Amino acid sequence: MADILLLEPGYSNKYPPMGLMKISYFHKYIIGDYVRFAKGKLPDAFKDKKWDRVYVTTLFTFEWENTKKALEYALSIVKDPTQVYTGGILATLMPELIAENFPTVKNNTGLLNHTGTLGLKGEECVDTMPLDYSILDDISDQYVYPAHDAYFTYMTRGCGMKCQFCAVQTLEPEYIPYLSIKDSIRFIEKKFGPKKDLLLMDNNVLRSPDFDKIVDEIKELGFAKGATYTNPKTGKKVKRYVDFNQGLDAFLLTPHKAKRLGELAIRPARIAFDHIEDAEAYKKAIRLCAENGITHMSNYMLYNGDDFKGKGHNYHADTPEDLYCRMKISLDLCEELSAELGYKITLFSFPMRYIPLSDLKRGYVGKKWNMKYLRALQRMMIPTQGKGVSSRSFFEADFGKDVRQFLEFLAMPEEHLGWRGYFVEHKNETPIELESRLKIWNENQKYIAEWTRLFNQLGDNKEAFIREIGDNNYTIEKYITLKDDLHKKLFIHYFTLPMLLKSLNTLEGNEATFIVNYICNEFPLIYIRMVRYIASGRIPLSYIEGAYKIFRKKLVNDIFAELSFEGSEPPFIIGSLAKIQAKTHIKTFNYDIVKSAYLFINAGILKSKEKKILIDSIKKLDSSNAKELLLDKMEEFKTSLIKQAKDENVGVEYLIEQIKLSLTQMYNQITLFDEDE
Ligand code: SF4
Repeated sequence: MADILLLEPGYSNKYPPMGLMKISYFHKYIIGDYVRFAKGKLPDAFKDKKWDRVYVTTLFTFEWENTKKALEYALSIVKDPTQVYTGGILATLMPELIAENFPTVKNNTGLLNHTGTLGLKGEECVDTMPLDYSILDDISDQYVYPAHDAYFTYMTRGCGMKCQFCAVQTLEPEYIPYLSIKDSIRFIEKKFGPKKDLLLMDNNVLRSPDFDKIVDEIKELGFAKGATYTNPKTGKKVKRYVDFNQGLDAFLLTPHKAKRLGELAIRPARIAFDHIEDAEAYKKAIRLCAENGITHMSNYMLYNGDDFKGKGHNYHADTPEDLYCRMKISLDLCEELSAELGYKITLFSFPMRYIPLSDLKRGYVGKKWNMKYLRALQRMMIPTQGKGVSSRSFFEADFGKDVRQFLEFLAMPEEHLGWRGYFVEHKNETPIELESRLKIWNENQKYIAEWTRLFNQLGDNKEAFIREIGDNNYTIEKYITLKDDLHKKLFIHYFTLPMLLKSLNTLEGNEATFIVNYICNEFPLIYIRMVRYIASGRIPLSYIEGAYKIFRKKLVNDIFAELSFEGSEPPFIIGSLAKIQAKTHIKTFNYDIVKSAYLFINAGILKSKEKKILIDSIKKLDSSNAKELLLDKMEEFKTSLIKQAKDENVGVEYLIEQIKLSLTQMYNQITLFDEDE
């Protein structure tokens, strides 16, 4: 009996690794080996164990870094380095990459349905073996696949349409029109318990001449329209569904096939809408499904694509406008069908970003897109939480009321994008919390309005500005290359606050004056937020220095306005201001007064009126008034400290000596500072 480890790299994925589940079945039930499954790495309990064989599955090419880590790990825990096996999507698409980086690893491209793969008797049948669901228990405390309560299987293999952008022609070159799943489903049911749903991963089931046979078999397995499932653990009865999760080809959906699909508990029916040129076929397919009682549908919308050939068409590289129109077509169609048929149709849109089959990272930019647009779209999709877009109100608020607004949103700074939306009151929120959130929300809306005002001033010359922000990189170096004042003002909106501070530190002369004028006079909210940012955090001195040199007492005054004077210690910024003052020799205030004020207030020796006078004086940068009050209270402060020291049982005399020394030092610091030096 050999020890077999199945390893899935540590990426996040929705579906369990079917290939490994079949290999597990093969080793565990046919050969009789010990099998363990791990995601990313094994738990510590296995740290000294060496394995006879390790199988590493692979997924998308852009997960190469995670895959590499998994293969390195596999080699570190296997007894013999020639006993690491890999397979799956990346391994099939880029075998040379595996060979180059891991020469001892045995790479299986394609399906495990032929001999010469694992070097074991019976290997040609692995692909048709039942899935061993029990391996998922090995990682249940670490990772739960979003889709796990389902039978995962195929009733056809391959596709044959050879769309240029699609990996199926390499992964499954041969089209197999029918694979019975009856036996393996029955087996799984018996061995691991029934599953709620049926997830069919077929690439192009509609192409099958055995489509009727496939539908009949699915019905026979208990997935006819209206089918229910009783959870064996809870006894609860719920509806169960069939999902052809790779999508259905709109071009191959005939009235007969739509009628047959309507006989199944299908939810959702996924129809691909990858190119705007397919609009008519797509609309026809959605209509056919809806007319046959399929009420829940969704689509896949590839975007960021290139010029492609496929299904006998030449498709042009898609544009952002195309994507918007495709989503809009879906929304309109959904509403039209619901009204016409008298029952509610839901149709979710799932934009999916195109990444070339050989890319090892996610950063590909299609020829009609740019990085800024891609990032913005990603930002817009966050509220959908991966569930797609189906309501008009959400669609219009998030993606825009028309193409013009969609393009405007794509160009908007990412932060502003996140600020859009209505103000919503939170449950259990106090009036003060609500008021402070509302204040920020109102400010955010002003930011959006200001950016939009400037952007619209570009009129028909937006393209030049879009080119400038297209790489989504907002640096000072780029800022200084801008010639147009309007572009410069807009560009300031893309700066993060640290970058804005850095620009004030770096730029000189007219360049600095331009920024100062815009953030202080034209749109002072930026200056206000910058001050708040400086006052609230542990910002490096080098960031604040530029602003300090430019704004001097005004900056200090505005920072002081933000201070609460609560807490035992002055905030970090006070120390920073003191250091910058010493470094630049630009005198603004005696910061020892602020530090002492915090100590006096915290010691509780000030009456509320005195406390108010002290704080007001500091906030007005009136050092003489604040100094006078502190000196008046010095004795009282000393007495309170000595009293505290006496409460300590050890080293009282030493403590008192130290207090006296510190207070002399404090006295000197408060009195010897000359602001006008
Ligand atoms: S029809 Fe779909 S599965 Fe088939 S090659 Fe084209 S994109 Fe791939």
